Amino acid sequence: MSAAPTYDLGKLHGGLRLPGEKSVSTTGPVLQAPIPDQLVLPLTQHVGNPSQPIVGIGEHVLKGQLIADTDGSLGAPVHASSSGKIVAIEPWPVSRRHGATAPCIVIECDGQDQAIETTEIVVDYAQLDPDSLLKKILQGGIVGLGGAVFPTAQKLMQAVTAPLDYLILNGVECEPYISCDDMLMREHAHDVLRGAQILMHALSLSHCHVAVESDKPQAMIALGEALGEIADDRIVLKQVPTIYPSGGEDQLVQLVTNKEVPTGGLPTDVGCVVQNVGTAAAINRWVVHGEPLISRITTITGGGVVQPVNVHARIGTTIADIVHLAGGYTDQANQLVIGGPMTGKSISTDRVPLVKATNCVLVLVDEVPLENPRPCIRCGECAEVCPIQLLPQQLYWFSCADNETKLREFGLTDCIECGCCDLVCPSHIALTADFRMAKARMRELADEKARAKRARQRYETRNLRVLIEQEKRDEELAAQKETAREIGPEAIKAIVARARKKSPGDQDEDI
Ligand code: SF4
Ligand code: SF4
Repeated sequence: MSAAPTYDLGKLHGGLRLPGEKSVSTTGPVLQAPIPDQLVLPLTQHVGNPSQPIVGIGEHVLKGQLIADTDGSLGAPVHASSSGKIVAIEPWPVSRRHGATAPCIVIECDGQDQAIETTEIVVDYAQLDPDSLLKKILQGGIVGLGGAVFPTAQKLMQAVTAPLDYLILNGVECEPYISCDDMLMREHAHDVLRGAQILMHALSLSHCHVAVESDKPQAMIALGEALGEIADDRIVLKQVPTIYPSGGEDQLVQLVTNKEVPTGGLPTDVGCVVQNVGTAAAINRWVVHGEPLISRITTITGGGVVQPVNVHARIGTTIADIVHLAGGYTDQANQLVIGGPMTGKSISTDRVPLVKATNCVLVLVDEVPLENPRPCIRCGECAEVCPIQLLPQQLYWFSCADNETKLREFGLTDCIECGCCDLVCPSHIALTADFRMAKARMRELADEKARAKRARQRYETRNLRVLIEQEKRDEELAAQKETAREIGPEAIKAIVARARKKSPGDQDEDI
């Protein structure tokens, strides 16, 4: 590990050169995972609300069939990854991103892998207007496969409201150990580039940069050959330096276009839309071949598996089934992490299913013993490497003091939790974990404030309603009294006379 040199693309502040550890999983081709006995499909595999099941227990479903749909708000549909019978809709252990357990649809696979008819689904995208194409992408259950899992169509729909210049496909994959995008680009370069063409049509754009890190020469060659074949001069391949975290959206925009995304802003603020190369390939599979997002390439790696490898597996396959494809666990296997060593989250069981976001399963051998933290010596190393140009040591002090105002002022919400500051800190202070907790506290506080505001609004609305109802009742009462006055004794006599006419037997009775 060493501090990053400077580059003549855009300028990226800070960052680190980390040991890649990727070659162990890229020695052979991507393995195709077999159909498992059972698929476990979480209803939440995306940013937004959980999808709602539209199938019942006992129902037979086909591969590619819609089984859970969005509630109309931010979210992405879920499709069956193979054919079989729905045997349960119940909580299941999931990766911690969405809580310890979450509702899942469980399919007992029939081994037939029978797919739905796609003739109705496949469209000639070039004949669609951009709006219709975005709606089409929404139906495919496609989310950002670079880790953010923001529903792709909704991200694109937001993007088209801004003036845009560039589509950037992110093939950087800068975190150590993870190599699924590298293998995707090597083996499915055409899918990536066709996905870029579909995205450009949807965004009405005519410039696309495909950014690939310099440590992926084979991917670059494959993309170059594919680009030669499709002969689309709107697409440009760009090699970027191997430096962590150049794959962050804002950092990549800076590197590729030399434009700085403003604090708290989005790449669209500088005319850019960033999509992962895997997302582009998934869009191509859905729009051109009618296959929704039901599978992905995932890296299984680390010293805790016998043969690190990349596998193409169905969404919903359990981690246990996938690790089996990497030859199983070694005797030293100690810890399971979903994601890479810098930003991944550990899980306690391999019953957890592979979801749309699972780019890597890292099996570590020994938990690295944490050095006892020492007081900050104000060396400034952390600020040197921070890609966001924050002052981590300052943030740490404000976090210790629980000073939310200062944390906001010094940009904690912009921290991308990359972990660079931790790695260089000579005092071994767990800065990133501390920032993560501080951000969670700030979110809780904001939620609490929002809840209190909603409760106050409910209380005020209720009071207003009671007041309006009371006023209405008072008005009605007043109107009734007025009517009674208007009727008067003469009118009552007339009513009595009419009643007597109707009841001749009672005519002599006095009233
Ligand atoms: S974790 Fe946050 S503060 Fe630390 S280097 Fe990364 S962005 Fe900067
Ligand atoms: S790197 Fe560690 S010791 Fe140095 S200033 Fe930052 S927090 Fe303090």
